[in-house]
Amino acid sequence: MEWISILEKIAVPRPNHSDTLNQVAAYLKGLLTSWEIPFTVQAFPLRYHALALLGAAILVLSIFFFIFILKKKPLLALLSVIAIPVLIILEVDMSLHPVSFLLEKPAENIIMHFPSPDAVRELIFCAHYDSKTDFWDHIQRQRILKLFPLFLVLGVTLSIWTFFVKKFNVLQKNLFKTIALVLSASFVIYCGFAFSWLGGYVFLSKDKQSFGAVDNGGSVVTLLALAKDLNEGKIHHEGSDITILLSSGEEVGLQGAYWYVKERFRDKPAEPELPTSLVNLELVGQNGNMLYWEKVGSFMIFHDADVQLAKRLNHVWMEISGKPMDVEKTIGDDTKNFGAAGIPFITVGQSGLPGPGLGGFHSVQDNMARVNPGNLDLMIKTLGKYIESY
Ligand SMILES: [Zn+2]
Repeated sequence: MEWISILEKIAVPRPNHSDTLNQVAAYLKGLLTSWEIPFTVQAFPLRYHALALLGAAILVLSIFFFIFILKKKPLLALLSVIAIPVLIILEVDMSLHPVSFLLEKPAENIIMHFPSPDAVRELIFCAHYDSKTDFWDHIQRQRILKLFPLFLVLGVTLSIWTFFVKKFNVLQKNLFKTIALVLSASFVIYCGFAFSWLGGYVFLSKDKQSFGAVDNGGSVVTLLALAKDLNEGKIHHEGSDITILLSSGEEVGLQGAYWYVKERFRDKPAEPELPTSLVNLELVGQNGNMLYWEKVGSFMIFHDADVQLAKRLNHVWMEISGKPMDVEKTIGDDTKNFGAAGIPFITVGQSGLPGPGLGGFHSVQDNMARVNPGNLDLMIKTLGKYIESY
């Protein structure tokens, strides 16, 4: 099978707010139908501009903060500052959605299931099929994020300062006033950068969009190949039910995986389930060694990848390549929802070396020229052997 020609069809900019996302979903479903692979569709409400709305809310709160400092309202200024991390935790870490619910549309997870009679376990594989473009590259974004605690402290300090300004006349000198206003304005400017990070993509033209070839088209193609092999009986999976999840909404807050885990595991905690584990795929099909990430998390909450899964995959990869997997520290991806539900998980991908490594994603640099077809085949083979290793 010529997997590259299928990847070329998927590797078009397909951000969550675009119609292209639906077209790619339709293409994937059409492929599965033509291969006679049974699948189900899980519809869910996609908050397609979740991060842009979060960024806009942060910016608005910072403007309120500035006005309250200007009007010498310390308590209201303090509340505006504190509301920012609270909002982030509610949106990003707790999957409540105080602002992102404003823009919703229907979206789909595509799910395949290959049962085994006498199954004693279930192996889930997941890859997201949406793509994303960011306004800043990942190094610039890191710089913005690193300053976040500093600016929070600045906001709180300015609020407390304003409280004392009201009490002591000596603090009402013009010099102090100017410094406080300049610092408050810098807080607003920082939040403006945060908005451009989270929502700046809305200002980018069509020719600046990421093709999502490696993030995460290569992973999707790998799972399509795995599904085809399973359907044709080329992989022995006696004792293991296999589920393949192609998730949507990953790039705007891991939403597809959230709904999968919620409806399958969270809403029916009493239902007996087979021991279940997840192998998630990210950045598959670029150059380099196979790798896995030790932790998943985003802002406050982190989960550890499963050590046994890492050992088993490492063993399989050693047999195929003669070398161990590389290890990376932290990723923010769909496994977070599985980790939160207590399901053992791991995310694997390829290192991108030689080349831009784990950089250059969410930009036009993530295009077909970056794809290494041999590495796609290696990952397909590795996952097949992994299933057979049970
Ligand atoms: Zn991704």
